Amino acid sequence: MARTPIIAANWKMNKSIGEAVSYIKELKGLVKNTKDKEIVICPPFTALSAVSAELKASEIRLGAQNLFHEESGAFTGEISPLMLKETNCKYVIIGHSERRKYFNETDEIVNKKIKIALKNKLIPILCIGETLEQRKANKTKEIIKKQFENSLKNIKSDKLVIAYEPVWAIGTGNNATPEQAEEAHAFIRRLVKKHFGSAAAEKIRIIYGGSVIPENIKGLMSQKNIDGALVGGASLDAKEFFEIIDF
Ligand code: PEP
Repeated sequence: MARTPIIAANWKMNKSIGEAVSYIKELKGLVKNTKDKEIVICPPFTALSAVSAELKASEIRLGAQNLFHEESGAFTGEISPLMLKETNCKYVIIGHSERRKYFNETDEIVNKKIKIALKNKLIPILCIGETLEQRKANKTKEIIKKQFENSLKNIKSDKLVIAYEPVWAIGTGNNATPEQAEEAHAFIRRLVKKHFGSAAAEKIRIIYGGSVIPENIKGLMSQKNIDGALVGGASLDAKEFFEIIDF
């Protein structure tokens, strides 16, 4: 079964509402003939509603960058899956390395977030990946396996996307080579097969993130187990992001 490539933009903590809306207007024009890829935009929470309104009648999907693992209550400053659904989010990034690093998100928290996302029919984009120290110590597969198994503990639904995001490649300009990425993706696909079964392993999209730019997307996408990209810095400009979509 062919997997539709998914190209997702993670804007992180960037763009005002006005900037977000102008970007979407521009991107809609650029992608009007793009039929063969799923495009996802993950703006900051403050811009979700405005971007959602601008995306009405468009094939571009909306995603959030995070959520909290409860549906409502006394959790000052948090955003619930119900709130994301209300803005028409289809996807939610969970376990991004910046959240793990700066906000102490553990695999256990990531596991709770995936469960609440699935319960509310949001598709998690689960981020996993090793640090430079871990790679140098030959622990890449061990770390990926641990993050995968702990994040997906007691989860049976296979309605998710997995993003392999080596921490050393994020925002550094040092992307993984297509071969390095493929080795990790093939390993993740074996983990998917063991956890969810063969049919899911054929279906689940495993996307690569870490310094993806127009110049390196083609090589990455030529690999058998790379089904798309999660793009940070290079997604902030609509034309540059479109060059990646249109690789
Ligand atoms: C990311 O933050 O998910 C990411 C891949 O960032 P960048 O493309 O800037 O490396």
